[in-house]
Amino acid sequence: MGAGLVGSLWAVLLAKRGYAVDVYELREDPRQAGFIGGRSINLAMSTRGWRALEKAGIENKIREVAIPMKGRMMHDEAGQLAFQPYGKEGQAIYSVSRGGLNIELIRIADQYENLRFHFAHKCLGVDLRSNTAHFEHAADGRRVSVEAPLIFGTDGAFSAVRRSFMKLPRFNYSQQYLEYGYKELHIPPLPGGEHAIDKNALHIWPRGQFMMIALPNIDGSFTGTLFLPFEGRANSFGQLQTDEQILAFFEKHFPDSIPLIPGLLEDFRTNPTAALATIRCFPWCYEDKVLLIGDASHAIVPFYGQGMNSGFEDCSLLDELMETYKDNWDKIIEVFNQERPRDANAIADLALRNFVEMRDRVADPRFLLRKEIEAYLNEQYPEDFLPLYSQVTFSHTPYSRALKEGLAQDELFDRILAIEGIEANWRENGELGEVFREWIRERRG
Ligand SMILES: Cc1cc2nc3c(=O)[nH]c(=O)nc-3n(C[C@H](O)[C@H](O)[C@H](O)COP(=O)(O)OP(=O)(O)OC[C@H]3O[C@@H](n4cnc5c(N)ncnc54)[C@H](O)[C@@H]3O)c2cc1C
Repeated sequence: MGAGLVGSLWAVLLAKRGYAVDVYELREDPRQAGFIGGRSINLAMSTRGWRALEKAGIENKIREVAIPMKGRMMHDEAGQLAFQPYGKEGQAIYSVSRGGLNIELIRIADQYENLRFHFAHKCLGVDLRSNTAHFEHAADGRRVSVEAPLIFGTDGAFSAVRRSFMKLPRFNYSQQYLEYGYKELHIPPLPGGEHAIDKNALHIWPRGQFMMIALPNIDGSFTGTLFLPFEGRANSFGQLQTDEQILAFFEKHFPDSIPLIPGLLEDFRTNPTAALATIRCFPWCYEDKVLLIGDASHAIVPFYGQGMNSGFEDCSLLDELMETYKDNWDKIIEVFNQERPRDANAIADLALRNFVEMRDRVADPRFLLRKEIEAYLNEQYPEDFLPLYSQVTFSHTPYSRALKEGLAQDELFDRILAIEGIEANWRENGELGEVFREWIRERRG
């Protein structure tokens, strides 16, 4: 149910293993209708996402149209730039078009004879006991019901399949909205078609309680996203009503972005202010018959760039379980439902935590010092130290383990940054090595 990013990828992996797959999607076929966005135009793809695309056989094709972003480019109020790499030389996250990726996945899926798409079918719910899904046809409101031995809910954060779980007495559900909304702003290419700012970076305008970011697109444009509290006395969407207020706000906080966004006032007025939420639930399955994956079971805020990546990782993990347990879906679903929610919860927490890092801490000299020392420790002791960001973004370490490691690393840096005079000449400071080795000894127990 749902031919979004996760649904269409998962359909490919099932079809590849020979299953007869029927995919029902609310929208029209985007190959004909064009991709109707409504949410971020581009997304950051990282190691977990690439692995799943490799399994589906389309990694290389997507890499050709992905733009590497090697680090964060911070813009301060005076328009001064500071670059901070995400990882080691050669490591990057990649900006990809959401619509382009979704269409490509549907195209690949459609090449399988054992897979059929049913567009413009709105799922109204699933009768869990009889394994029957109910649909309404968009064109004429006609209703159809379909029975299937296995149903996957990949219908996103406001999943209709999950809604059917809500009637079960033993089902946990929580939705936590963020008091911040977001609005997209378009940065067009220069007249010659080039990108107006460095295209190999994720641009951030960190301003403490709020921020703006921009990710590159292959047509030379950037998609900027402003994150601001919905309400509040100052610096909130609620306070930006008139053109004068909007312009004064940008002149004060993001002056270097004004020439980059010629349609600022128009975009501000016409683009929606969208909400963000963290959605958690448990269990993710009904017996061995219905399973929720992707945003349907774990929707997170976008600040670690891991929503799609974690949904794609769901697909990789299920693919590996299919390999291990063959057609034993009872076992596959049981193991997945037992093990995966722990990691989904961890990345949900990490994503909330990263919001503070992006909007506030990246502008703090102590934080930048920490990043430099992290890179140094990783270089000197690769077996013992991998920064949290790299674990999440450039590795397949389970998110729950990365979160635990991240908390231990916080403790290490509390000690390192307390070393007297650490700011100056830290490479020559012998105490740094001592503190680090002591931390390693404690961890080895
Ligand atoms: C502003 C923003 C920025 C983001 N940036 C990133 C990023 O940089 N990196 C990253 O990894 N993730 C990012 N994400 C998260 C990412 O968008 C989601 O995690 C991802 O789209 C989830 O995929 P999905 O297939 O589970 O759900 P969706 O992409 O929402 O797809 C669900 C599909 O189900 C269909 N559907 C819904 N209801 C029904 C129904 N009743 N019947 C039939 N079909 C239905 C929908 O039409 C849709 O096609 C971002 C999210 C936002 C909001």
